Amino acid sequence: MKQIALLGSTGSIGLSTLDVVRSDAASLGLFALVAHRKVRELAAQCHEFRPRLAVIADERLADEVDRSLFPRETELMFGESGIEHVVTHPEVNVVVSAIVGAAGLKGTWAAVQAGKRVALANKESLVVAGPLVTQAVKDHGAELLPVDSEHSAIFQCLACGRKDEIAKIHLTASGGPFRKASLEELRSVTVAQALAHPTWQMGPKITIDSATMMNKALEVIEARWLFDVPVEQLGVVVHPQSIVHSFVEYVDGSVIAQLSPPDMRLPIQYALSWPQRKMGPARKMNWEQSLSMEFSPPDLDRFPALRLGFEVARSGGGCGAVLNAANEVAVERFLKNDLKFMEIPRVCGEVLAAHTHSSHPSLDELLALDEWAREETRRWKA
Ligand code: NDP
Repeated sequence: MKQIALLGSTGSIGLSTLDVVRSDAASLGLFALVAHRKVRELAAQCHEFRPRLAVIADERLADEVDRSLFPRETELMFGESGIEHVVTHPEVNVVVSAIVGAAGLKGTWAAVQAGKRVALANKESLVVAGPLVTQAVKDHGAELLPVDSEHSAIFQCLACGRKDEIAKIHLTASGGPFRKASLEELRSVTVAQALAHPTWQMGPKITIDSATMMNKALEVIEARWLFDVPVEQLGVVVHPQSIVHSFVEYVDGSVIAQLSPPDMRLPIQYALSWPQRKMGPARKMNWEQSLSMEFSPPDLDRFPALRLGFEVARSGGGCGAVLNAANEVAVERFLKNDLKFMEIPRVCGEVLAAHTHSSHPSLDELLALDEWAREETRRWKA
């Protein structure tokens, strides 16, 4: 039986992971659940799944949490030390890294250092520290399996050829709710409009990232490090139906794609069961119905965030940490109506341009850059 430590159990990916575990209780067990502040939701999950450990990441809650909410057999821990304890625990086989934002990096890092299989939803881990994380995977015999649907698709398509046979890896993008909006319309987008994603149900941060296409930018950077390919071999194709999750084009012209309905339970399950495939709860294609699919190139002028993604993937160094931190703060400010929609990529570009480039930063240097970029973005005025 695989014992899982689920980081971010109360989030969108966390809830989908619990569904996958419910559907295969004979081979998947939950050893630990981790949430940030949603104590009641976490306690309810503990009553259902009876994990050995539960962690509340916000340690300021340690004095006020009512421990009687939790089952007796679940030990309650707090803060980063609690996360580190569960991801390195000898009884844990798989860590699902599904905390949102750069806050997820430390859990991924500790799990990789402990040589675990990491089912990686937290793309920010690779955006911020791709070269360090992938090197640590090699050094410690860990496994990094993508949960992001695009990267899971690419991972599956790459089984069909050798690395030196790849012509190009194409990440698909739904295009978000503003795929057809003019630049003028984009300037006046409201929070409610940006939160209404046409095909995916996700947490608020990644939903806004999808609307600006920053999500795709982060995914290009993630793919750069995860698959160790040059930026020139990465492309983005807009595909509004979100059925083809990405594809790989080989040198002979063959294009291998992975298709399934938009349902995160499939890539989560695949990352848990790989190299096996299993029956699972994810929705299946209905080939009895007619289906049309569209593909078009992205418009980098209306979605400048995507251009930033390619630039950052090319430059490497501390650029990913800066872009990611600037974007996290910009999204928070947009959600509070403190920034306009098109100011999100603008501030990110300006903070990126203002940072001092270092080509091989250490983890501490990356965390310092993250802090610096957050502060710059908080102070930024149009
Ligand atoms: P949500 O906002 O739905 O959930 C975030 C989770 O992280 C919650 O459990 C939350 O706890 C926890 N969390 C938030 N801040 C912290 C913190 N500082 N320390 C510890 N835990 C924290 O996010 P999603 O599930 O949508 O996304 C999670 C990750 O997966 C992101 O990196 C995203 O890019 C990636 N991803 C998501 C997809 C999706 O379909 N949703 C698809 C592909 C990738 P609490 O609830 O207690 O606040």
